[in-house]
Amino acid sequence: MPFVPRGAGTGLSGGAICDGGVIIQLSRMNRLLAIYPDDCYAVVQPGVVNNYLNLQARPLGLGFAPDPSSQAACTIGGNLAENAGGPHTLKYGVTSNHVLGQTVVFPDGEVATYGGPYPVRSGPDFSTFLIGTEGTIAISTEIIVRLVPLPPDVTTMLAVYKSVADATDSVSAILAAGVLPNALELIDNLCIQAVESHLKAGFPMEAAAVLLIELDGTKQMMQTKAETVGRVCKSNAAVSFSIAKSEEERQRLWLGRKHAVGSLGKITPAFYTNDGVVPRSRLTDIMQTSYRIAKEHDLSVAHVCHAGDGNIHPLICYNPDESGGSQRATACSTEILMACIEMGGSITGEHGIGIEKRDLLPQMFSEVDLEHMQRLRNGLNPEGLLNPGKIFPNGSRCGELRGNVSIPRGTWI
Ligand SMILES: Cc1cc2nc3c(=O)[nH]c(=O)nc-3n(C[C@H](O)[C@H](O)[C@H](O)COP(=O)(O)OP(=O)(O)OC[C@H]3O[C@@H](n4cnc5c(N)ncnc54)[C@H](O)[C@@H]3O)c2cc1C
Repeated sequence: MPFVPRGAGTGLSGGAICDGGVIIQLSRMNRLLAIYPDDCYAVVQPGVVNNYLNLQARPLGLGFAPDPSSQAACTIGGNLAENAGGPHTLKYGVTSNHVLGQTVVFPDGEVATYGGPYPVRSGPDFSTFLIGTEGTIAISTEIIVRLVPLPPDVTTMLAVYKSVADATDSVSAILAAGVLPNALELIDNLCIQAVESHLKAGFPMEAAAVLLIELDGTKQMMQTKAETVGRVCKSNAAVSFSIAKSEEERQRLWLGRKHAVGSLGKITPAFYTNDGVVPRSRLTDIMQTSYRIAKEHDLSVAHVCHAGDGNIHPLICYNPDESGGSQRATACSTEILMACIEMGGSITGEHGIGIEKRDLLPQMFSEVDLEHMQRLRNGLNPEGLLNPGKIFPNGSRCGELRGNVSIPRGTWI
């Protein structure tokens, strides 16, 4: 029997209630249609807020695993379009691992449904193909998402370091020791300063970096693994290693992590958030490189990383009122992303390409690669009506974007 949340299907669920009790008004397509607890899936409209889905699924012992730090505001449609990840991606995968099917509308008005509530697929997987296409091919109107059983227990640990390199070296070492945490996050000193001056999460102000490490499973299973993690962190020069003793302490640590980006406003007039990824073994290199690049631009960079995935979020602090301040921040950000590519990584780990990074795409893909991607897009969206200007760079061979194209007013974005 499906579980139909209160308000769903009535057209009255115009507000999604999030953890903090904030009501987010969404104008349309924001209904959670049903949860099927026995088959572990939910059917949602794309405007359902990620946190809202989780709040509804939790009493049934289920959860939607992709948990972007923006989950109090971001929607399942946006998660799908960006193939979003989050702290728990390390163990549970990104959005494409949690979408079973979807109904979409193509620009010519045709409606198609791909996939379904069953786990086994046959034939080409068009639903997954569309994930991460940033709304440039079709609009998702109904999404079937996988729900995973909530773990019986979690253990959250904090390792504190005097050097960022010791923290980043610990990341690969933990996985090499045979432990797969459900989250392995890094927060560096500048970010710690911001978080602690904002909400006192319990990160030591003098630390060069902290690792927030979480395991899930039964208490028995986690105990041995937590001991291994502690041993690895200490052998990589952690100055302290502790396990959250209460749910309150655990929630406080996570609050600090989830509000790390927003807290930056406490210490800088403006910051430019970016998103890049490197193979995990290059994490130490990319962090050092990013600090060097920022210094060369006379700027500072704070970091909050999904470290287990090699996914960095450099937060470049700058003053927009200073002459050339914004330009230096942009140049600094681009150089860090170029360094990610040089290290075998990518210019985005989870935020997508959009407009901001489209001109960097040829740094990662050959003209032939780009042409084939655009042929696929153009085949299904020949007039380039959906999200024109996103993803593909101007002037690439087969694009809809020949010359300078401005985004028409009223475009659905
Ligand atoms: C503070 C902060 C923290 C963040 N942390 C993370 C993180 O941990 N992990 C992560 O992955 N991302 C993160 N993000 C980035 C972003 O929140 C995510 O990518 C999120 O998935 C976007 O969802 P949204 O609802 O905000 O989408 P929007 O920004 O509204 O849309 C994103 C794109 O998707 C398209 N789109 C939206 N709905 C549909 C649809 N139904 N069909 C087709 N296309 C559609 C839009 O046109 C747009 O191009 C963060 C952002 C912020 C500001």
